[in-house]
Amino acid sequence: MRRFLLVCSLLAAAITAPAQLTFVFDYTYDTGSFFSGGNIGNRTYLEAAGTYLSNYISGTTLNAITPGGGNSWNADTFHPGTGDNQVLGNISIAANTILVFAGGYDLGGSTLGVGGGGGYGVTGTQPWLDAISYRGNGSFSMPWGGSIAFDSSGTSWHFDSDTSTTETFTGQSDFFSVAVHELMHLVGVGTNATWDSLISGTSPTSTFTGAASVAENGGVILLDPGEGHWVNGTMSTIAGTATPQETLMDPSIVIGTRKYLTDLDLAALQDLGYTVTAVPEPATIAALFGLAAMLSVIRRRRTS
Ligand SMILES: [Zn+2]
Repeated sequence: MRRFLLVCSLLAAAITAPAQLTFVFDYTYDTGSFFSGGNIGNRTYLEAAGTYLSNYISGTTLNAITPGGGNSWNADTFHPGTGDNQVLGNISIAANTILVFAGGYDLGGSTLGVGGGGGYGVTGTQPWLDAISYRGNGSFSMPWGGSIAFDSSGTSWHFDSDTSTTETFTGQSDFFSVAVHELMHLVGVGTNATWDSLISGTSPTSTFTGAASVAENGGVILLDPGEGHWVNGTMSTIAGTATPQETLMDPSIVIGTRKYLTDLDLAALQDLGYTVTAVPEPATIAALFGLAAMLSVIRRRRTS
């Protein structure tokens, strides 16, 4: 028994090795105190969601963005405490990091979260422009960062300190699922220029033509009318398992359930130029997921 436990512990260490690509969370604009004051503990849950996603794309490298000489830029993003535009100026971004401004405000309606990559204006050489747009990844759009925000009014959130198992949380919306979904938008799924270049046809019958996604899906994939998600109800399998699950990147989630990244969601990342790494999932995920899937209220829309 002792020997068996030792093996498990070594395996766990290998799985949780630090990702090369890191989300750096910034709470400067958390003016609604979703992650501050009495809610400062919520940062732990967000950062765990970031680690979960970054472990899948840890093979991706991103160049640093270092202004200097004649090269400058003016980064901007949406203010995660208000939704307004926020100018950030001539900031520096470290290699292999994606800067995420996080907060919360009343998103209205049935929206649980919003997320997207930031923008910029740029002055300087073509290589400098490319370094910002592609971060050293050929012609694939890669983010310097962006913002995500969560509904702070009218949503009962389920925060889970161990997302490798799913407990029952009737009547609540799963923060982990929404956080990973919005981070996926921030890195480009449904939002960036590479994604747009892979859309064929016209809404509401447009499809996604990324080769990895089409192969994973066994055929063309219909997009949601907004063209930022798979069409509602698109199924795949939980990443690294054979367990069926609605994709994380369709536009809604059933209250009281969790969604993990699926193989189709990861294929989208591959089509966007990310190096996707297989991360083994605990077997308990598959066993426990079915418990929560019977409620019928659907809510979550993306914006941006
Ligand atoms: Zn969305």
